[in-house]
Amino acid sequence: MPAEFADTHCHLDQLGSGAVAEAAAVGVTTIVAVSQESGSMRAVLDLGQRFPGRVLPGLGIHPCTVTDRGLDALTADLALLAERAPEAAVIGETGLDHKWATSAEQQAEQVHVLECHFDIAAQHRKPVNLHSRRCLRQTLEHAISFRRQTGLAAQMHWFTESSKLVRICNDEGIFVSAGPSVLSSSQAADVAGEIADDLLLLESDAPVPVGGVPGHPRRVREVAEKLARLRGLSLENLAEQLERNLRRYLGP
Ligand SMILES: [Zn+2]
Repeated sequence: MPAEFADTHCHLDQLGSGAVAEAAAVGVTTIVAVSQESGSMRAVLDLGQRFPGRVLPGLGIHPCTVTDRGLDALTADLALLAERAPEAAVIGETGLDHKWATSAEQQAEQVHVLECHFDIAAQHRKPVNLHSRRCLRQTLEHAISFRRQTGLAAQMHWFTESSKLVRICNDEGIFVSAGPSVLSSSQAADVAGEIADDLLLLESDAPVPVGGVPGHPRRVREVAEKLARLRGLSLENLAEQLERNLRRYLGP
């Protein structure tokens, strides 16, 4: 059987309707479709129903949405998240982003919304999918306390900037996903090489372009080929390891 892979962080609702089949054609057969506000939450739930077992909905409010709209405007989004959480495979995309949140008040709003996600994830025993920009250590510290308090899985997405922080993830049992940046940045590839075998996940973050190439879940295949080479594994052995990791990440 040819090697199969999962894209564990993709904005699938922003891609064309053929993306699931195009990804599957190169062996990327499972996609975690994350969301950032109520419209995309509904869209990924619909995609999950259209592609059962192949598209896994992630429900969340992106930290950039929190800063764009402000906490007071998020009541309906938070209510939808709480209401539909039982249908989610993961809670996310959530996290912190200090590129967008520059004032103390904006940063505190992002933390508040992150903690709402953690409460909902804990209540429904779901893993969380975390974004972090310009505040990598702070986001990781929140992930660590979530994991220690709940025993649930946390994933740091596109977290290939710092070997030191990846080693902390390894010690704390936090999953880290590597994406197409490992194809264009040798530093990202080096950091991805530090992710523990049993905590590695792959992602595209499509449609975000990386290295001048438009984002697409099929790029996970290229990421897998590169990491298999770097780790001295066959593509099949890497696929088996990643499949076990995905199952542990998603939980029962
Ligand atoms: Zn994303």
